[in-house]
Amino acid sequence: MKFYNLKHPEQEVSFSQAVRQGLGKNQGLFFPKELPKYDDIENLLSMPLVERSVKILYPFVADDLTEEEFSSIVTRAFNFPALVQPIDENNSVLELFHGPTLAFKDFGGRFMAQCLQSFTQGDNDKITILTATSGDTGAAVAHAFYGLENIKVVILYPKGKISLLQEKMFTTLGGNISTIAVDGSFDDCQELVKRSFDDLDLAKAIGLNSANSINISRLLAQISYYFEAAAQLYRQRGKIDDLVFSIPSGNFGNLTAGMLAKAMGLPIKRFIAATNANDTVPRYLKTGEWSPNETIATMSNAMDVSKPNNWPRVEHMLKSGILSEDCLSSVAIDEEQTQIAMHKLNGLGYISEPHAGVAYKALSYDLNDNEFGVFLGTAHPAKFKDTVESTLGRPLGLPKELADCAGETILSSQMNADFTDLHAFLMAHAS
Ligand SMILES: *Cc1c(COP(=O)(O)O)cnc(C)c1O
Repeated sequence: MKFYNLKHPEQEVSFSQAVRQGLGKNQGLFFPKELPKYDDIENLLSMPLVERSVKILYPFVADDLTEEEFSSIVTRAFNFPALVQPIDENNSVLELFHGPTLAFKDFGGRFMAQCLQSFTQGDNDKITILTATSGDTGAAVAHAFYGLENIKVVILYPKGKISLLQEKMFTTLGGNISTIAVDGSFDDCQELVKRSFDDLDLAKAIGLNSANSINISRLLAQISYYFEAAAQLYRQRGKIDDLVFSIPSGNFGNLTAGMLAKAMGLPIKRFIAATNANDTVPRYLKTGEWSPNETIATMSNAMDVSKPNNWPRVEHMLKSGILSEDCLSSVAIDEEQTQIAMHKLNGLGYISEPHAGVAYKALSYDLNDNEFGVFLGTAHPAKFKDTVESTLGRPLGLPKELADCAGETILSSQMNADFTDLHAFLMAHAS
């Protein structure tokens, strides 16, 4: 299957090109030319995660990979489960944080890493993943690419501005993973990344790729767990056509994947895009006006995004009739309501973190009597230990993944926020 540029529909690329390039001409996002449609849903839902994911995703990659190659990619990428847990009689949570870095980004990150690995051809074909992180993305990317041949990873982060535990989750690996503590802000780090991509000679010399959430491979991976959630709920409840997914949204990649799953035939009823105070989308759906404000810092900091970069894909699906406009609503949840939701869940015997809290709260506003709510648990509560402990007033243990890296040594280099220094580092480390 080919993928085309939503800004320049005449630009068509293969899956492997879309994965390696990330963005099309003029920063346009790639979108599949057609969507496979499944009507044997019951049969699909009866399969295990890996086998089903190979089956539903293979049409997207068939020009580039054999089914055996693709099957081994999916097997290596999805080596941990997605789990639906009951909350009360009308709601369940889909826990997506059982991967190595305890966040849903492990699904997309690991799948993308395995795809890229299989698209590099021999020793002269080098790829350098360069990314800036304020926390979660760095860990998922570092672990996903760790130990892969012909791929180097360089991660920039603002020195002293992320928690020690967050820092240890991606700076202690070594090997093909280089990390740089930049004397500056997250924006400085992003600016350095952007300048590197703008330097076409550099980009070409070291095969730059950003691995960020606009990469189509990450979205394809995420389609899988909507089918998996439906499979588990079908076994538990015997029906799925009343499901409403509430998705804690930042760059709206997770929502895009859910909508793709519905467009491919999964009979989900509708979606709620839940945001924090960064409410560009809920305001847009209400007023028709796209007017991003300054980004506001909140407890659910992975959603502190005011210009969500996947929105054009969502808009395309709604405007082109792939899905009907009434399958999406959006609501913004403030800090107080987030904490109230975390307390409510705690009272029901479920410890959650702020991102899931936002999504659960949105369901309580928007779910009808004849509907069943599923909110996404995008991160393990221990990743937001301080916030969860201070909100709920109870101590939280560390899961093994976090406890293990707490004792390791940070291997980062230090750098000023200076492009000349970064250029020299990249040329020395990545080529
Ligand atoms: C990245 C992230 C989100 C937002 O997901 P998008 O696909 O960018 O909307 C939500 N919660 C957590 C914990 C995240 O890390």
